[in-house]
Amino acid sequence: MIEFEHHNKLVPGDRKGLLGQGISLHALERIQDAIDTYKKGLAVAPGNSELTKYLELAQKQKDKDAIDYIYDRNGVPVLRRSVAKGKLIFSAESNMDKIIGYSSDKLKLGLLDKMGKTFPGNTITLCIDSRLQRIASSALSTPGAVVILDPKTGAILAAVSNPKFNPDKVEKEFSRYKSMKNNVFLNRAFEGLYEPGSICKIITTSAMIECGLSEKEIFPVKCNGSMVIEGKVFFCWEKHGNVKSVEEAIDQSCNIAFQKIGSVLGYDKIYEYANKYGFNTPIDMQLPVATSSVPLECESKYELADRSTGLGKDFRITPLIAACMASTVANGGMLMKPYIVKEVKNILGDVVYKEEPAVMKNVIKKETAAQLTLYMVDAVERGLGQKARVQGMKVAGKTGTARTSGKGLDGWFVCFAPADNPKIAMAILCDASGKGMEVAAPVAKRIISEALGQ
Ligand SMILES: [Zn+2]
Repeated sequence: MIEFEHHNKLVPGDRKGLLGQGISLHALERIQDAIDTYKKGLAVAPGNSELTKYLELAQKQKDKDAIDYIYDRNGVPVLRRSVAKGKLIFSAESNMDKIIGYSSDKLKLGLLDKMGKTFPGNTITLCIDSRLQRIASSALSTPGAVVILDPKTGAILAAVSNPKFNPDKVEKEFSRYKSMKNNVFLNRAFEGLYEPGSICKIITTSAMIECGLSEKEIFPVKCNGSMVIEGKVFFCWEKHGNVKSVEEAIDQSCNIAFQKIGSVLGYDKIYEYANKYGFNTPIDMQLPVATSSVPLECESKYELADRSTGLGKDFRITPLIAACMASTVANGGMLMKPYIVKEVKNILGDVVYKEEPAVMKNVIKKETAAQLTLYMVDAVERGLGQKARVQGMKVAGKTGTARTSGKGLDGWFVCFAPADNPKIAMAILCDASGKGMEVAAPVAKRIISEALGQ
């Protein structure tokens, strides 16, 4: 800008010089100065289209008292700055608290921490659909997270993490927020690590299908509600009696049947397929993501039974990777790299950063994904996922229940819909709030009905 000022002194009344200086002032958010400079330029070059365009933009920002910083995927502003007060204006509801984040001496979080230097002067467009974000946010009433993906691109359409904080109250109420028992500043969607439980039966079933294991080698399996492995009791959550097929094992989420599948497959295969689905794989994104983990070593048959059913210490998943699992099946076996920032534009409207959809991993074959889809549809129509049934639409889903913290049960549900032409894939985690089929499946039903229903 100093250069333009200098130039304008040397060559007074130069249209290009005034335009450049105006844009520089504009990018620094000196809106009134920018308006005055554009007007000077127009006095020299009446009707000039560029000067007119920028003058109109500056005038609009002044009239609205808002400079847009961040937009959702449909151009809805979700973070702005007031021209008059110089203060950030967060979107009306605080449902994007962890995504937009915060940046002060007290708290550094989310995009304002990671990409805060982008402003002023640039705008960010997110993959987030603020309508879906609002639907997901109001559907989840417990502590926990919801992540919704576009299975075809990997775009993150919504990411909710409860409990939420109000960014306007952080400075005043920081110590109250800090003392809350459920960490209010943790982005559970991307950084929360939980025991996966039965949602990982998708992984075990994938390995079973692709290793060519026939159902005859496994079934029937007798489930008495528990069994003894190496002197330790391994539990199912119910007495299922005679489980005759993999379909029935998935519908009823029988742990005894899945420990049998795991024992025949061996741990190498469980480990291999967990890695294929995104465990032990760091995700490079504009926001921090914790790496989901499954241990390399399996020391006993009991541990193998645990891992085959998604249980055990050191077996940990983020809601983001749980959504990726559903997304992989929805997308014919191909996992797209999840991403949240679509593009960054400078004040001239030039794209200075852009993220394109990219394949993260080819996880399973198309036929395997098609078979899993049938099982997951069945699990919602007839199995434990029935509370996610939506009238007039096929939903493919899998429930899970785990125990991460010892405080209570963590309820999981991963799903995609419509099953025959998936528009969304998602994971729901209800932290220490009950069984997946009771607490998480109904959240999915509400989100799918509201998001995709007529
Ligand atoms: Zn059972």
